[in-house]
Amino acid sequence: MPELPEVETVRRGLEKLVIGKEVKSVTVLWDNIVQAPGGVADFVHRMPGQSLLSVERIGKFLIFNWTDVAWIAHLRMEGKYLYVPTTESVDAYSHVILHLTDGYDLRYRDVRKFGRIHMVDKNQLEQAINALNLGPEPKDLTTVYLKGKLEKRKRPIKGVLLDQSVIAGIGNIYADEVLYAAKVHPEQAANTLTDPEIQAIVDASQAIIGHAVEVGGTTIRSYTNAFGENGHYQQYLQAYGRTGKPCARCGTPIEKISVSQRGSHFCPNCQKVHG
Ligand SMILES: [Zn+2]
Repeated sequence: MPELPEVETVRRGLEKLVIGKEVKSVTVLWDNIVQAPGGVADFVHRMPGQSLLSVERIGKFLIFNWTDVAWIAHLRMEGKYLYVPTTESVDAYSHVILHLTDGYDLRYRDVRKFGRIHMVDKNQLEQAINALNLGPEPKDLTTVYLKGKLEKRKRPIKGVLLDQSVIAGIGNIYADEVLYAAKVHPEQAANTLTDPEIQAIVDASQAIIGHAVEVGGTTIRSYTNAFGENGHYQQYLQAYGRTGKPCARCGTPIEKISVSQRGSHFCPNCQKVHG
């Protein structure tokens, strides 16, 4: 699943290639992807004539600012945007197609169909974003804030890091990397973390997400960004996907367990449950 760095890479690609482009017509091939005040018909009716003014990102959400409307879009598991000539054949996984006036299409492709494009009126955008109930992104995280959130939660820290209302943008890969860097066991109850551990999680979140954004995110299996460029953070992963491989700090094999229903990778020697 694309996390903050991968979504940011998609955003930058869209910004580079699609800003200023105007929609000529729209084809929706899988209705459930699209949400709009008047349903899919409203979306198909209102998008033609819209030009893309800017693309922003909040956590893992992309915000498309069109002339009169906005989209709040989420890629979920495998969604991606393609910018291809209109003449290029449409494959079975491209579900929303915007024909642009420049002879290209902006296509939303999603093998699993979990992603969403939510169109709202511009004057409803702020309210719709507030309704997402997102916490701060790692770059805006403070130790005081995180401590306040953790004190009230008894569940494993791994699950709390995945909670978008606590921190926006972290998913399974970067949660494992942050906990490894901070030397915190993924099952440690959130309200039992020490102050130095909370500080270490804040520092690691900022350093790891910042670095991952710089190198275009992590490319695992078939995931590539919108325009075929690959991210490079996979070569820096210390825990995620490294089951059985030696810990870079102590040589102990990395283990994988299930925490909060998610596969979690950690070093059993460097990351021990306490308290
Ligand atoms: Zn270790």
